[in-house]
Amino acid sequence: MLTTAFSGSLFIVAAPSGAGKSTLVNALLAQEPGIKLSISTTTRQPRPGEQDGVHYHFTTAEDFTARADRGEFLEWAEVHGNFYGTSRLTVEQEMKNGTDILLEIDWQGARQVKKQFPHASGIFILPPSIAALEERLHKRGTDEPHIITRRLLAAGGEIAHAPDFEYVIINEEFNVALSELQSIVKATRSRFAQQAARNTSLFAQLGIHALPQT
Ligand code: GDP
Ligand code: ADP
Ligand code: 5GP
Repeated sequence: MLTTAFSGSLFIVAAPSGAGKSTLVNALLAQEPGIKLSISTTTRQPRPGEQDGVHYHFTTAEDFTARADRGEFLEWAEVHGNFYGTSRLTVEQEMKNGTDILLEIDWQGARQVKKQFPHASGIFILPPSIAALEERLHKRGTDEPHIITRRLLAAGGEIAHAPDFEYVIINEEFNVALSELQSIVKATRSRFAQQAARNTSLFAQLGIHALPQT
């Protein structure tokens, strides 16, 4: 069988808060066509400048729980005292249409997604040091000091799950980290199964009929 249900690739990006995940992902999306960020649903309060439907779909705990119970989330988790979840329908529809999807989610969500999509590329972003992480969270200026403290305390727990991911990027020099992220996206797109799914008629014409065993 040469076709797979999903011709798009799935990327999971995780990091402790402040490692530079969103900045890296936004820079990637600005340069790479054909890849979209899944907009999560969250019960967290919007930060100044965050727009509903752009950064997150903001909702109440009641609505979130009802949707989780109906199975609407591909994955969901409680992170830093708020709920976050990924829409199953949106991700699956986009991937069927051949769009690559990137999930910016925590390690608990990554684990749930990997069970359902074992070929998803897991990418973990590390800060160059804990001191840099703290400095970035302060400089970002989006969170109250007690929220920053909470996120720093949680950083070790998130980092402990880095070994679950296939790829690790150390975000010290931003442009180096960005080019590593781009390389991972390109390599994933060149995997046999993804190329076969995107180029069905060429593969048929060239007589390539089997998916590799791995
Ligand atoms: P950030 O850590 O500064 O980017 O803060 P956010 O509030 O944007 O994200 C909080 C945590 O929730 C991070 O660990 C995210 O990776 C995680 N997160 C965001 N969206 C999702 C989601 O849809 N599902 C899951 N499981 N985690 C998410
Ligand atoms: P996350 O999404 O992982 O919580 P952000 O993308 O919001 O992190 O980045 C946290 C802060 O660190 C932002 O103010 C961002 O501009 C800054 N930052 C990101 N990457 C670097 C880097 N390589 N060097 C210095 N500062 C960085
Ligand atoms: P923030 O509140 O700073 O936007 O995000 C905090 C953490 O929540 C980040 O580590 C982010 O990756 C994670 N997160 C955001 N959306 C989701 C989601 O849909 N699912 C999961 N599991 N984590 C998420």
